[in-house]
Amino acid sequence: MRKISLRSGLSTSGSIEGDRLAGIRPTNSNTRVSAAKLETVTPVQRVNPGSPDNIGLNSERLRDVMVDRLVRQGVTDERVLGAMKRVYRHAFVDEALASRAYDDAALPIGHSQTISQPWVVARMLSALCEQSVPKRVLEVGTGCGYQAAVMAGIFPEVYSIERVRALYDMARQTLRALGYQKVKLSFGDGMAGWPTAAPFGGIVVAAAGIEIPQNLIQQLEIGGRLIAPEGASTQKLVLIERTGPQSWTRTEMEPVRFVPLKSGVQS
Ligand code: SAH
Repeated sequence: MRKISLRSGLSTSGSIEGDRLAGIRPTNSNTRVSAAKLETVTPVQRVNPGSPDNIGLNSERLRDVMVDRLVRQGVTDERVLGAMKRVYRHAFVDEALASRAYDDAALPIGHSQTISQPWVVARMLSALCEQSVPKRVLEVGTGCGYQAAVMAGIFPEVYSIERVRALYDMARQTLRALGYQKVKLSFGDGMAGWPTAAPFGGIVVAAAGIEIPQNLIQQLEIGGRLIAPEGASTQKLVLIERTGPQSWTRTEMEPVRFVPLKSGVQS
């Protein structure tokens, strides 16, 4: 069994995205990375998620550092902080990047996609449970599965859709290995939502579209909340709340940068 030390991850600087984005943090999130960079991390090799070994001890300290940083950045929701404290973020990234897994940075996960920056995960999930904790929630853009795992620690029912087959397979494998059986995964275009499981009390979109897909807005239950990045070169987080059968409110939040929301699937 291979053991790795995550002690080097105590440094919060020097990450691939961290340096480049330092000037505009903490509002950045899923930054697109170049194909050249991604080549260095494919095929994806994981830290064996089923073997905490000494990683468990070291990574617990790293998660403490990450959560302390989130608190300093203004995250107050104890449910979100507690869930992020528990999820092994290092198990969702390539082994070569594991030491940076707890930095406040988006990291490449292959296929031109990134794992969301911890601050943005915390911000979006806090917004979903500001009034009350929704029972059933949907994530569009599973990616490596990290955010879905955090969601599983907060919400009773979690659904997540991914359009890139290889990422869907990888997320499923990681989530199952770590014991997140209750997360329901689907391979498909999340812009259509998940009609057979709707309505949702919360929807979180992990990729930015020019506008928020109507299907998703329609699949919110009354009182439900959706949070999504919106825009192309300039993006911001948008919070939609369904206030009645045909009424919604819209609140614009921080500027962010996410990978694009795309239609169709990539097999
Ligand atoms: N939540 C992820 C973030 C992944 S990045 C995490 O915790 O790591 C955003 C993801 O959205 C990418 O994997 C991308 O393939 C996916 N995506 C983009 N458009 C999509 C769509 N229409 N349906 C489903 N997934 C989509």
